[in-house]
Amino acid sequence: MSEISEMFDYIVVGAGSAGCVLANRLSADPGATVLLLEAGPPDRKLEIRVPAAATKLFKTPYDWDYTTTSQPGLAGRELYWPRGKTLGGSSAINFQIYARGHRSDFDRWAELGNPGWGFEQVLPYFQRLERCSRGDPRLRGRTGPLCIQDLRDPNPMTRAFVRAAVDVGLPANDDVNGAVQDGVALSQVTQRRGRRWSAADAYLRPARRRRNLTVRTRARATRVLFERGRAVGVEYLDLAGGRHELATARAGREVIVAGGTVNSPHLLLCSGVGPAEVLRGVGVRVVHALPGVGGNLQDHPVVWVVAASPQPLSAGLRARALHRPPAQAAHLARAGRRRGSAAAAQPRPGHAGIGRPAGAAAT
Ligand SMILES: Cc1cc2nc3c(=O)[nH]c(=O)nc-3n(C[C@H](O)[C@H](O)[C@H](O)COP(=O)(O)OP(=O)(O)OC[C@H]3O[C@@H](n4cnc5c(N)ncnc54)[C@H](O)[C@@H]3O)c2cc1C
Repeated sequence: MSEISEMFDYIVVGAGSAGCVLANRLSADPGATVLLLEAGPPDRKLEIRVPAAATKLFKTPYDWDYTTTSQPGLAGRELYWPRGKTLGGSSAINFQIYARGHRSDFDRWAELGNPGWGFEQVLPYFQRLERCSRGDPRLRGRTGPLCIQDLRDPNPMTRAFVRAAVDVGLPANDDVNGAVQDGVALSQVTQRRGRRWSAADAYLRPARRRRNLTVRTRARATRVLFERGRAVGVEYLDLAGGRHELATARAGREVIVAGGTVNSPHLLLCSGVGPAEVLRGVGVRVVHALPGVGGNLQDHPVVWVVAASPQPLSAGLRARALHRPPAQAAHLARAGRRRGSAAAAQPRPGHAGIGRPAGAAAT
């Protein structure tokens, strides 16, 4: 391990959606020093900017490329589980749909004993982050750092889908982030002039010139360090510039773990924070017994709805358009070749149009 241990006021682990906001807000105080550690490389890849190229980032160095365990609710399948690994985190590889949580979800979290998480309490924060040119100003924000736009050039099939949904009786809704969230609409997206606008664009870049903010990429936290039950620093693997060194940094005020849904609990468990029996079972010294860590995960799988199109309009998933097709695109290509069309595939009988197993992914 490196002998030198640098000192900061705050250490933030993970430069994803949350970490970029934290790094910005904490370093806004010129009297506070902040270290932001990001395991992945910088976000310089062109495909990060191009909205439709998101799937080209899957299974690359910009993705943790996880696979779930066998899921009882999904007939025992294991799913590919992408997670962003770069500045911006998953906001640099996601599908950019801007959908705020449902009012009732926030209210339920508050009811469960989390003061401050009710919808009325979180609404001002949503408004503060949004830069959105339309919608009810009592509910939407106009001047925040996160650019939210309408789709510039929606696919004709998307418009047809919305029309069809309205035709069968679903309510049309001009703003699903407004007063009523139910209904069918074209999504708004986190983009600016047709380019992805990640959390790094919104929060990290404007703060990068601050002298009190240090951003380190290819720096993977391996342990939170504790002294007398208090988090005092982070041990991390420094992989920048071909290095492979363990280093430590100390935090005078706080260590903030923002590694995302999978990696935050993983880092805590590796650091000895979690259910005592689980930790002892794998030989990790218990620093703080905390039963909830690593449990109670809720997520939603993505399912591709696959249908034959008489016209070549389905650019989003046209296998030929993808440089390195993920499993589902390869499947489409194979199915299309069998049927004599590049993008056509039929849903399996009994699956009501839901994508084949290889086409499902958890996000
Ligand atoms: C493919 C995909 C599509 C999605 N589509 C949408 C969408 O359309 N709309 C929507 O609202 N949401 C979408 N999401 C979800 C959304 O992007 C995430 O909920 C959000 O970005 C999570 O933010 P986070 O800060 O919790 O984690 P992340 O943004 O994932 O950030 C975690 C960061 O921590 C880093 N990190 C992890 N462990 C360590 C470590 N040990 N040391 C150092 N760094 C570490 C990671 O590399 C990453 O950069 C999608 C997600 C994915 C993966």
